[in-house]
Amino acid sequence: MPLATLGQALTEIASAVRPRGTESIPLERAAGRVLARDLISDVDWPPFDTSAMDGYAVRLADVAAGSPVPERAGLVAAGDAPPAPIAAGEVVRIMTGAPLPSGTEAIVPVERSRRERGEPGRVVFEGAPALGAHIRRRGESIAAGARLLAAGRRLRPADVALAALAGADPVEVYLSPRIAIASTGDEVVRGAEVPSAGRLRDSNGPMLLAECASRGWAARRCPPVPDDPAAVAALFGRAGQSEDFLVTTGGVSAGDLDLLPGAAAAAGFRVLFHGVAMRPGKPIAFAEREGVWWIGLPGNPVSSFVGFHVLAAEALSRFEGDREPSAPSFPARLAAPLPAAGDRDRFFDALCRIEPGSATLSAIALRSSGSHDLAALARANALIHVPAGSPALPARADVRVLLLADPES
Ligand code: AMP
Ligand code: MG
Repeated sequence: MPLATLGQALTEIASAVRPRGTESIPLERAAGRVLARDLISDVDWPPFDTSAMDGYAVRLADVAAGSPVPERAGLVAAGDAPPAPIAAGEVVRIMTGAPLPSGTEAIVPVERSRRERGEPGRVVFEGAPALGAHIRRRGESIAAGARLLAAGRRLRPADVALAALAGADPVEVYLSPRIAIASTGDEVVRGAEVPSAGRLRDSNGPMLLAECASRGWAARRCPPVPDDPAAVAALFGRAGQSEDFLVTTGGVSAGDLDLLPGAAAAAGFRVLFHGVAMRPGKPIAFAEREGVWWIGLPGNPVSSFVGFHVLAAEALSRFEGDREPSAPSFPARLAAPLPAAGDRDRFFDALCRIEPGSATLSAIALRSSGSHDLAALARANALIHVPAGSPALPARADVRVLLLADPES
């Protein structure tokens, strides 16, 4: 199978992967989930004319002169029923969030008022308020019937607030992907076990679990899979029993023991692409069998990481119905030159900082000894993305970066 370009791989994912369905969940658990229906407000917001301050509801003519004005007995508090209209020659004590008496022209904050001593029930105001001062009008933020959020939106905390005011609780969201993660390779050992000669600890499994957890995706770690045809066949045989995605690492390139692509095909998976023109990450495979997806990431830890960020996360987000799944990329300026990209898209571990005195991001590729260099990856807060065919880039050249963490300032 010829290498797919990165663009082709992303297009393939976008056209192939669809949500499996939707579910209705309590709004308090919905942050980070993807809205499955447009969110329409059934109320105006604010829902009634209201005061933005503790103070007095006034008519301008009554307070313009600066002389004392009689105060209506009692006060209007948040939660009260709408009070009687304001009468000429009176002011009404009102609290923040309380419904306005109709006819109110302004609110004078309590700090700008003084109750007359010796003349109970009369209030003097400091200066004349502007028409509409400190009044929040019904519907000035949201009109009933307005579309607040579109389906396909990954809900942020402020979106949850909008959903709450619109009464969307429970809320309809797309199903999250259920993910099985399997590290393959005879050399891979798990956990705290001290690896014997020729073996190494599995770093990909925990890294992928962490990637999924940070996005709120339920992921399960499978036992390590040796480079053994029967074990690999069994992995694909079981795939999809209780998960939507099988994400593997290792065994997917062109070596004698890279058994996964053949085993996937033998188990009935249809391969959408195997091999993407990117570096690191070239041997990535993507396949499907009856709505179950296999994402084969390379064994090298940095390749696996980049493959997850650039392709796997895209597929998983598409499955979740996210309309803007791609990791956002930002313009940055190179702090040091980079070599020509060659015929594959390149991703460089990088440190990004905000240049002092400007709003520009500057990016410097970190010295890395290769796609096994986890120490370099862990120092990086960004990946510089240089498209295939790009010539050598001088310092200060414009590039794009994927942020992995906040840039330094
Ligand atoms: P492979 O893609 O299977 O050819 O593996 C490529 C390289 O990645 C080899 O040097 C492996 O030892 C290493 N590797 C494979 N799986 C893992 C893993 N789970 N954690 C860390 N390194 C791995
Ligand atoms: Mg291997």
